[in-house]
Amino acid sequence: MLEGGRIAAGPKGEVRRADILISPEGRIEEVGEHLSVAAGIDRIDASSALIVPGFIDAHQHLDKTGVVKLAPNPSGTLQGAREAFALYARNAPPEDVAKRASKTMARCLARGTTAIRSHTNVDKDAGFVGLDALSELRMQWADRLTVQLVAFMTPHPNQDLDWLTSNIDAAASRADAVGGTPAVSEDPLRYLDILFEAAVRHDLPLDFHLDEHLNPERPLFEAVFERVRKYGMQGRTVLSHASVLSALPRSEFQKILEQLLELDIGVITLPAANLYLQGRSHEMLPPRGLTRVAELARAGVPIAAASDNIQDPFVPTGSGDMLEIGRWTMLAGHLHASELDVVYSMITDIPARLIGLGGDYGIRPGARADLVVTDCEDVDRLVAGGPDRMVVLAKGKPVHVNWGADTEEDASVARRTA
Ligand SMILES: [Zn+2]
Repeated sequence: MLEGGRIAAGPKGEVRRADILISPEGRIEEVGEHLSVAAGIDRIDASSALIVPGFIDAHQHLDKTGVVKLAPNPSGTLQGAREAFALYARNAPPEDVAKRASKTMARCLARGTTAIRSHTNVDKDAGFVGLDALSELRMQWADRLTVQLVAFMTPHPNQDLDWLTSNIDAAASRADAVGGTPAVSEDPLRYLDILFEAAVRHDLPLDFHLDEHLNPERPLFEAVFERVRKYGMQGRTVLSHASVLSALPRSEFQKILEQLLELDIGVITLPAANLYLQGRSHEMLPPRGLTRVAELARAGVPIAAASDNIQDPFVPTGSGDMLEIGRWTMLAGHLHASELDVVYSMITDIPARLIGLGGDYGIRPGARADLVVTDCEDVDRLVAGGPDRMVVLAKGKPVHVNWGADTEEDASVARRTA
């Protein structure tokens, strides 16, 4: 049992003092003040700690992570990155994916991320290599890290949609969601139909890379809305990037906003990729490239922030630290200082909902005891500056301990969780 910690159990990280009783199976049994427990139950003094649920990285590419040196992208553009990875994927051995992905997963876990949704290329170049390798890891890591796989049906110029059509069922059967990137398809509408129909056939949610560009002439939001209605995918569709919203006049954005709310569609902003890839051709005032983060959040659209790529041709940097992604989102998304708690919800509760973790997530009875114990005063401080000391628990077991002790009281958390 973790005793007397400041726990952030609400969606915005409202803090109260409570004990957390964890079952031997790694689930939270009870949360409350001064819980009485049987003799023999291990009691850990957490009174100096802030305890938050594990961070959720709702959008990564574990099949691509770590290839930055192996797949150079000299243009620094999205298309350059796509080509670089496609070329690399043609010859990449399966064990290579597992090796790179495990390394990034371990780093993410050590920084408090306890669930990752990874888009995984399925196309003529990559075949099923990434999906198969990551399915294996998903199983091996299940007690430490929740991994979800999106069958990312990747269209390339001159790659016919027939290949994707004939392989999408095999891909979806290995995946937790169906995804793709309509704006780069040669026939976006037919491509969208293929993805929606597969999602319905396999009863899976959808997660698109939607309009990862700043060209106001060709947004695909209406085409997606039409299909969400037609296929009944309300509440089961997530749109990642949505960069073009910042390039549209506010009146047009407003119409899209209303439909996002009406159809209960979530948005995931990916500041690292957008800041790096977008607007390179602009001679003056290159745009940030992010979607309208602040406006979407203030209007009540469920919007999460995530890493996207970590050290690959799309984004050459990345540490797997969701607090760092939160800060990018805060600064580049023009949120106010009073909205640090909004950023907190964008890496915890909201993405947990968008990827469908349900009752498994949070600080509440029944949830997995995936917890981040820090020395921060509250979630505002956690987001703004990060912790000096941190312990990460996955299913109640310590998977990362960095709690150098200044005082005897502080030492108890480290000693007892190690
Ligand atoms: Zn992505």
